[in-house]
Amino acid sequence: MSSRKTEPAEETGTGPLTLAELQAKDFEGFKGIGEKRLADLHALEVDSVLDLLMYYPRRWVDRTQECRVCDLAAGASALVVVDVLSVDKRSTRNGRSMVSARVGDDTGKFTLTFFNQPWRSRQLYAGLTISVWGKPDTYRGALQMTNPIVDLIGDRTGRIVPIYPQSGDNGVKTWEMAKWVETALRKCAPRGVDDPVPDGVRRKYNLVPRFEAMKSIHLPSSMDEVESARRRLAFDELLRVQTYLVREKKRIEQSARGIAHSTRSVFVNQFIENLSFPLTSAQRRVIDEVSTDMSRTVPMNRLLQGDVGSGKTVVAVATLLTAVEGGYQGALMAPTEVLAEQHFAGVTRLLDGLVVSDPDNLFGDRPVRVELLTNRITGEQRRRVVAGLADGSIDIAIGTHALIQKGIEFKSLGAVVVDEQHRFGVEQRARLREMSEIRPDTLVMTATPIPRTAALTIFGDLDVSVLDEMPPGRTPIVTHAVAGEAETSAMWAAVRETVGRGDQVYVVCPLVEDSEKLEAASAEATFTDLCDGELAGLRIGLMHGRMKSTEKDVVMGSFRRADLDVLVATTVIEVGVDVPNATQMVILDADRFGIAQLHQLRGRVGRGDKASTCWLVTRLSDDELIAEMKPRIEALVASTDGFDLAEIDLQLRGEGTIMDKRQSGGSDDLKLASLKTDRDLIEAAREVAIGIVGDDTSLAAHPHIRDEVQLFIEDPGREDFVVRN
Ligand code: ADP
Ligand code: MG
Repeated sequence: MSSRKTEPAEETGTGPLTLAELQAKDFEGFKGIGEKRLADLHALEVDSVLDLLMYYPRRWVDRTQECRVCDLAAGASALVVVDVLSVDKRSTRNGRSMVSARVGDDTGKFTLTFFNQPWRSRQLYAGLTISVWGKPDTYRGALQMTNPIVDLIGDRTGRIVPIYPQSGDNGVKTWEMAKWVETALRKCAPRGVDDPVPDGVRRKYNLVPRFEAMKSIHLPSSMDEVESARRRLAFDELLRVQTYLVREKKRIEQSARGIAHSTRSVFVNQFIENLSFPLTSAQRRVIDEVSTDMSRTVPMNRLLQGDVGSGKTVVAVATLLTAVEGGYQGALMAPTEVLAEQHFAGVTRLLDGLVVSDPDNLFGDRPVRVELLTNRITGEQRRRVVAGLADGSIDIAIGTHALIQKGIEFKSLGAVVVDEQHRFGVEQRARLREMSEIRPDTLVMTATPIPRTAALTIFGDLDVSVLDEMPPGRTPIVTHAVAGEAETSAMWAAVRETVGRGDQVYVVCPLVEDSEKLEAASAEATFTDLCDGELAGLRIGLMHGRMKSTEKDVVMGSFRRADLDVLVATTVIEVGVDVPNATQMVILDADRFGIAQLHQLRGRVGRGDKASTCWLVTRLSDDELIAEMKPRIEALVASTDGFDLAEIDLQLRGEGTIMDKRQSGGSDDLKLASLKTDRDLIEAAREVAIGIVGDDTSLAAHPHIRDEVQLFIEDPGREDFVVRN
């Protein structure tokens, strides 16, 4: 070591090591990391000392809880450390694989049995030392454990043994990882690791110092220590994300010039009085929130969450009218042409008969002019709309991205409402920002309910409004779980009966992850089966994602006109389709869908005043799978409240489901923090971040936090994952 005279500057630095310095350090001087292991580590995305320190254990084996084999008793969960004596693999009568391993210590022996885990026969071999956690039972008079948790702990001692995530068969062993992490910690010890969190904050939220946390997560002496370490490091993750988000929000507020819209609300009040129903108090509240935002010079950047049917359109129209009142234009953008047309029809209906007072007009008032623009509007009609947008004679434009294409200019765009934003790309949003020097106020609407903790993380740069109240007089959808042949035929009989009454039915086909082609094939097969079988004689249509949009329109059009009784479809019907006469929905292989998606799909029925039914069909035979999906189906049968369900979904399945693929890719930023259990930490991080950013988006007073945000979020280009727009 001493022979290395020309060390880079940062390595000779003094004071605690920053994360950036740790990121710059490689594995020089680490025993056992040669070329092969370097490549293996690289495959695990462990390229620096920082990566190594952040390669957290997946689990900790608490050997203070360990017992001997002779102490095992049927029915009592226990941890034992044993040697593998022999391994045997075979198939059971019903074709399941079964691996059994004879294991023991010097006080006795017993058997481990693994079903459906054929790889265990490769993982386990005689002579290996493993820790086993599970509940023993007696089988033919002898003790055994079925599907226990097994960790290969090697010859490691210590009270708490960290278990690192494994990678494939030839991957790095957990004990090798442990050794290198120890080396890394030892090398850091002389200088320690920088802690950017101020003492006051640490005390307030009961957070241990960072270097201590880094040591404890890898080399804990108790499980309590693991938890306080995890909490501290999770806080750091959340603080980086929140600091980034809060700063972005502040930046936009400081830099972008918006419009201070009038708050006289004459148009909006006229519109509300003109409605055939009173607003719900939630609608009233959100319209107020929007109007307050719009009156500020800072552009509005608000997310409106509201379950299907909660009445978001009224809020959208009030937003657009607020702009129109001051002489600006409003635009409502939908992700598809079908939805844009539907919105156009809906908004036109809502505005029907509304005459707004117009002091500039000779007659003192005029109707609001609303036009539709999609790629289907062509020729003379298109020219008329484009001209009307440019000269300002169109007050409200409704359409798809066609609205913000190059070549479309608004005279004075004052407010934009974006529906179902998760289908709306980054480019569209950027284009929207470029369209005028003055940023229009933006309201983003989504029907996917998101629990508050998740919303703070995913939409941390937006203000959030929630429509948490349904308009009165809805007949709730009755949901049934259907399994087995008898129940399934009874269901099809009920479907036929419904059609006999003149109602219509959706049949949603199984979701095929990542393959639209397979999904379409499965939809076609279902269609044929139903036409020839259970639903023979009914008028059945088919719609899937591989069809051309004109073909889809034809089918959708016939279904809407009730020329079809049954629509067999893939999830292409998920968003916004509105056919009030459809009162039943059959969802096949419902177990393939998450709660949120099932709820979303189910929202397609129950749009009229008739009672509606949703059938969740499963044909699982495996007990484990049934056990896994049962809580989901039960939740859906029991509740029709999207927010309740989102919360349950989060509890059942973790954060993966509420964030789409793009975002879950970003969960890299949250290795230890959990949206599910760290609610308090998320709120704390948000609060601390707001204090840190203050009015200074350069973070001059907090250079260490600034550098860490840059290191983790900006340099790797992860902004997209953190911010949805
Ligand atoms: P969302 O877009 O949130 O799914 P919509 O805006 O389409 O819901 O509203 C669903 C239906 O409820 C529409 O027919 C609408 O006219 C009606 N509606 C909206 N607000 C109310 C209310 N306050 N009272 C009664 N009906 C309402
Ligand atoms: Mg404003």
